[in-house]
Amino acid sequence: MIVLDRVSRTYPGGVRALRDVSLTVDDGEMVAIVGPSGSGKSTLLQLMGTLDRPTSGRVEVRGQDVSAMADRRLSALRAGWIGFVFQQFFLSDGVPAIDNVATGLLYAGVPQKRRRAMAAEALERVGLSHRATHRPGELSGGERQRVAIARAVVNRPAILLADEPTGNLDSRNGHGVLELLRELNADGTTVVIITHDRDVAAAAPRRVEVRDGVIV
Ligand code: ADP
Repeated sequence: MIVLDRVSRTYPGGVRALRDVSLTVDDGEMVAIVGPSGSGKSTLLQLMGTLDRPTSGRVEVRGQDVSAMADRRLSALRAGWIGFVFQQFFLSDGVPAIDNVATGLLYAGVPQKRRRAMAAEALERVGLSHRATHRPGELSGGERQRVAIARAVVNRPAILLADEPTGNLDSRNGHGVLELLRELNADGTTVVIITHDRDVAAAAPRRVEVRDGVIV
C-alpha cells in the first residue's frame, strides 16, 4: 500500500529529519509509529500521505511513484485514497458536525447533495448520528475526534493516517477513538498511527520505532 525506499528529508536550514528510511506498509495493516519528540515521526507520516516530498528516495502509494508526480495528480490521489486525522481535530467551530464531515469530500468531486448523504453515513459509522447538528463546541473531545475521523473516512479511503489521534483526549475518550480505528482497520482500511500512548501502541499488531531520523 505504501513503500518508502531510502527516503531522506532535509528541511531548509539543514535539519535532516529522516535519513535513508525504508519502510513498507501492506494492504490492511495497522501500524503504530513510536519514538521521542523530534525523531521524525510527523515527517514520515507527511511523506506517506504525500503532503510533503522527500529530498531523496522514492515514495510509492498503491504502486504509484509519487515522488515526481505533478501536484494536481497528487491532490487527486490523496483525495481518493488517503484520510488524515490530527491531534488538534481541525474542525470548523461554528459549523455542524455533518457539514464538518462533508468538507472531507470537497476535493473529491462529489456533488453537494451526495456529500451530505455520505457525511450522514460516515457519522453513523463513528456512532455519532445523534450529534449531526451539534457544533464542535457542543461536543466532548472524544466526540470531536470522532467527527474528524468521520471526515477522514467519508470517502472510504484505503489509507488512514493519524498523528497523535488520542493526544488531546482523556483515557476513556482515547480508548473509544482507538476502538474506532481498530474497527476501521478490521473493515479493511490500512491504518498508520503516530502515538505516544502506550495503549494505542500496544493495540497495533506492528510497531515501528523512529529515533533521530532512522527506523530502529
Ligand atoms: P516528531 O513528529 O517525531 O516530533 P518531526 O518529524 O516533527 O518529529 O520533526 C523532525 C525534525 O525535523 C525535528 O528536529 C524538527 O524540529 C524538524 N522539523 C520538522 N518540521 C520542520 C520544518 N517545517 N522546518 C524545519 N525543521 C522541521
